[in-house]
Amino acid sequence: MSFADYLNVFFQSKIGLIFAFVLGSMFGSFFNVCIYRLPKELSIIKPRSFCPSCNKTIPWYYNIPLISWLYLRGKCAYCGAKISFRYFFVELLTALIFTFGVYKFGFSLKALEFIVLTSLMLILFFTDLYERILPDEITLGFIPIGLIFAYFSPERGFLESLVVGVIGAGLLFLLAYIYLKIKGIEGMGMGDVKMLALMGTFLGKKAFLALMIGSIIGTIVGLFIIYVLKKGRHYEIPFGCFLAIGTVITYLYGDNLIHYYVTHFLQHY
Ligand SMILES: [Zn+2]
Repeated sequence: MSFADYLNVFFQSKIGLIFAFVLGSMFGSFFNVCIYRLPKELSIIKPRSFCPSCNKTIPWYYNIPLISWLYLRGKCAYCGAKISFRYFFVELLTALIFTFGVYKFGFSLKALEFIVLTSLMLILFFTDLYERILPDEITLGFIPIGLIFAYFSPERGFLESLVVGVIGAGLLFLLAYIYLKIKGIEGMGMGDVKMLALMGTFLGKKAFLALMIGSIIGTIVGLFIIYVLKKGRHYEIPFGCFLAIGTVITYLYGDNLIHYYVTHFLQHY
C-alpha cells in the first residue's frame, strides 16, 4: 500500500472520521468569525475573538468549538450576554461537512473540493441570511481556487469552468446592468451574479441546474413568506441562500437528477 492508501484507510476509519469532525468544528469556529466580520468589512485575523457586548477578549478555554457554547449554555462567561445558537450550529454543520466529505470521497482531491465548496456555500448562506451580503472575498476571491480544482477534475474541464464561470456570469452581469439602467431597480443583485460565477467554476455547466434548483426552492419559500407570513411584496428574499442550497444538491446529486429527468421525461423522443 502506498502512503496515500494508508491515509485513505485512516480517514475512512472511525478515528479518521472523528479527526475530520474535530478539524471541521475548528474551521467552523473560524467561519463564524468570517460570517460576523466580512459583511462589516472587519479583519478576520485581528483582533482575537471578543464578546460584542462587553468587548472582553475570549480566552481559548472559552472558545473551544461546540463544547464551550454548551458549557456556557450560550452565554458570555463575563457579562452573561446571549451568544447566538448560530455559533454552535455553524460549528456543528462544518464538522458534519468535513466528516461527510472524507466518508463519501475518502482521502482525495474530490473530498477537498467538496469540503471547500460546501464551506464557502455555508458562509455565503449565513452572510446573506443575516446581512443580505455576499462578500467579494468569498465569491470573487475563490474563483481562482475553483479554476484550479477544475484543472485537476476528471469530470469537468478547465475550459468548461472558465466559460461558465467567467463568460456566463459576465453575460448575466451585463443583463443585470441593463435591467438596472432601464428599470432603475436591481432585478438580480450583483452579489448573486458574482456568486453564480463562483458556482460556475466549481460546477461547470451544471451550475445552470444549481440555478434552477435554487430558483424553484427560492420561489416556493418566497411565496410562503409573502402570502403566509405576510411580510409584504418588498421583503428582500436572500436569493444567495437558495443558490447555496442548489449548489450543494447539484454537487452531490446533479448527475442523478439529470439521469432521472432524461429517463422519465425525455424517453419518448
Ligand atoms: Zn460579554
